Amino acid sequence: MRLVTGGTGMVGSAIKADLKIGSKDYDLTNWVAVNDLFEKHKPSEVIHCAAKVGGIWGNMNYKGDFYRENILMNTHIIEAARLHGVKRLVAFLSTCVFPDNVEYPLSERKIHMGPPHNSNDAYAYAKRMCDIQIRAYREQYNLNYISVIPTNIYGPNDLFDLTNGHVVPSLIHRCFLAREQGKDLEIWGTGKPLREFIFSEDVARLSEWALDNYEEDEPIILSTSKETSIKDLVEMVVELLQFKGKLIWLKEKPDGQYRKPSDNSKLKSYLPDFKYTPLYEGLKKTISWFENNYPNIRS
Ligand code: NAP
Ligand code: GDP
Repeated sequence: MRLVTGGTGMVGSAIKADLKIGSKDYDLTNWVAVNDLFEKHKPSEVIHCAAKVGGIWGNMNYKGDFYRENILMNTHIIEAARLHGVKRLVAFLSTCVFPDNVEYPLSERKIHMGPPHNSNDAYAYAKRMCDIQIRAYREQYNLNYISVIPTNIYGPNDLFDLTNGHVVPSLIHRCFLAREQGKDLEIWGTGKPLREFIFSEDVARLSEWALDNYEEDEPIILSTSKETSIKDLVEMVVELLQFKGKLIWLKEKPDGQYRKPSDNSKLKSYLPDFKYTPLYEGLKKTISWFENNYPNIRS
């Protein structure tokens, strides 16, 4: 019986499972609810996607909430899995966990080599502790639990919040509204930062693979290792949404980290032939999903 937490979210909704839950089904920050979930459904494997997730603005302005909710959810899920005899578990970390000041590219062994970037340190530390808990449980209880580190994910069913979302969903939503209302498109920062975008359905397939096949103590990075500038991303979104208005760059808004290039050689050594969805194609699918579902989107 495969349980996916965060099943109402972007990644969770793309993963195959027997049971998917969202926060309205079980509040994972509440131990009693988590224990009930495992007692009732008795999962044998778990892909733990649920998290309090946000873009740079949410991470900077709600640090207490990001820390508390994530550390509680992760601690509860991993402990309930142990108590209820779950055989395999995959937990989601993020490239935010990496130190701000560390030699590039980012690789699995560098997670704890210095403090994370100040803009998302609360979220990053809560996620780092998930790695610590899994390593501790592997050592003490001999459990085959693992964690994965995807880079910047985008896709259908994302949180398309104009302020709290990540860059891809926020931009798609804002560009769509600007087109409909004949307004200018406002974009945060300078457009210079680089990010490695990965399509949610690719992450879903890779995490299903990891659940069945990956057994190392160390997490595994899920990434294309291909960097795209925010400026190039904006050009693709503008073209796909056929937006003809003016672009206004809000330079006073934060850029966040300039880049966080990852080393995906471990993943490549396991899956040398994995075909990643090209960014333009993934954006096309995401935008088409957005337009077909608007206004019934998560925002
Ligand atoms: P998402 O779309 O924001 O979905 C989050 C999910 O977590 C939703 O299903 C939500 O349920 C659930 N959730 C939040 N609080 C909960 C609570 N208290 N109790 C139970 N469920 C709760 O997230 P995502 O973008 O798919 O991310 C999936 C995983 O990948 C997360 O662990 C995230 O940290 C990691 N990750 C994401 C990115 C990215 O760029 N998005 C990058 C790297 C890693 P409701 O919707 O029902 O409230
Ligand atoms: P992160 O910085 O990798 O954690 O993720 P984000 O998705 O929040 O931001 C990535 C980059 O996109 C940053 O350089 C932002 O300045 C830039 N950006 C441009 N417009 C937006 C926007 O509307 N929302 C967000 N979140 N970021 C934006």
